[in-house]
Amino acid sequence: MFNKKIVESLGKSSMIRAMFEEGARLRKLYGDDKVFDFSLGNPEVEPPVEVLDSLKKYVNSEEQGLHKYMNNAGFPDVRQKVADYLNKKSGIDMTSEHIVMVCGAAAGLNVTLKALLNPGEEVMVLAPFFVEYGTYIDHAGGNTVIVNTMKDSFQIDVDAVEKAITNKTKAIIINSPNNPTGVIYSRESLEQLNKVIEKKEAELGISIFVISDEPYVSLVYDGIEVPSTLSIFKKSISINSFSKSLALPGERIGYIAASSRIPDVETLISAMVTLNRTLGFVNAPSLFQKVIADNLEVAVNTENYKKKRDILYNHLTKIGFKCIKPDGAFYLFVKAPIEDDIAFCGTAAKYNLLLVPGSGFRGPGYVRIAYCADIGMIERSLEAFTKLAKEYGLS
Ligand code: PLP
Repeated sequence: MFNKKIVESLGKSSMIRAMFEEGARLRKLYGDDKVFDFSLGNPEVEPPVEVLDSLKKYVNSEEQGLHKYMNNAGFPDVRQKVADYLNKKSGIDMTSEHIVMVCGAAAGLNVTLKALLNPGEEVMVLAPFFVEYGTYIDHAGGNTVIVNTMKDSFQIDVDAVEKAITNKTKAIIINSPNNPTGVIYSRESLEQLNKVIEKKEAELGISIFVISDEPYVSLVYDGIEVPSTLSIFKKSISINSFSKSLALPGERIGYIAASSRIPDVETLISAMVTLNRTLGFVNAPSLFQKVIADNLEVAVNTENYKKKRDILYNHLTKIGFKCIKPDGAFYLFVKAPIEDDIAFCGTAAKYNLLLVPGSGFRGPGYVRIAYCADIGMIERSLEAFTKLAKEYGLS
């Protein structure tokens, strides 16, 4: 009776959601402070005070027209501020005409994919990856092509990407800092990727767009560089959101920046603006467009996240778990001591530890720990991790 494809997919229900429900069950049984929930990438911190002050200013503003329908791309002054900010970072030359304000990265990705894809065209994603990419690509009529990153380092396997490019390849989605690994793709690997893309475009007579999904771009530790994808890739589309950097996931605010170096970028932008409307988003929320324009240089305190990363990383590696030290985002991607990551998460749940199987991100054999959680909970969880390690003879 209903949409068959969607109803079938409900049966396979996301592993993150399953963990979330398990968390609710365990909390009821054992009490809140005895359950260690690392399942969700939902920032526990409040937005920075500058952001809240800005919001109050606009809520109290008597400016006329602030709450009306607008150009579906967003307020021109906000878009210009975003363009100026990105030009400063990337050294390219964009104007408000290259920016579309959207309801978070999820909307930005849907709008972008729908604007680019003809039926059956391929979009490459690098595993492990944010698994909703597959659904978005499917909604836009494309086919997902999964290419693994390098074993253990999770850096881009440029040779594997080259082999996977066909005359149907339309785009590649990259996400750095990465969910679920926390890895930042190196400048070297991005430059090599660019060379491969340009070589294959010439060889096959196609255009390949690089969609850079960047919600974690401000959550970086130890001064590590996140290379600007707008400066490296000619046909780059950068998608950003303030869900993580300003802890505003419920407010649904972000932007798409389509590089001024894309041939006929005006048509692409017009398609995106139309799709923003016809996919039902219409435009990004007005007040939050204004708020983020005042706060483009602001981010939540990353020292907090770094402290949490260090507590967990140091403890887990000390008790025998293997894990790459993440340079950004707020996830640890830990190697499961057995092949079956789903079974391992089941065992972890016995100690009230809620982890998400890597299989849910097409990264089997690993588990994701989202440490955007209360520091007290993180500290209380260490003993449970030690017991879990002992069960597998690690320490
Ligand atoms: N992309 C990645 C890699 C994410 O991790 C998320 C959310 O967790 C999103 C996109 C969606 O973010 P938004 O809240 O901006 O739609």
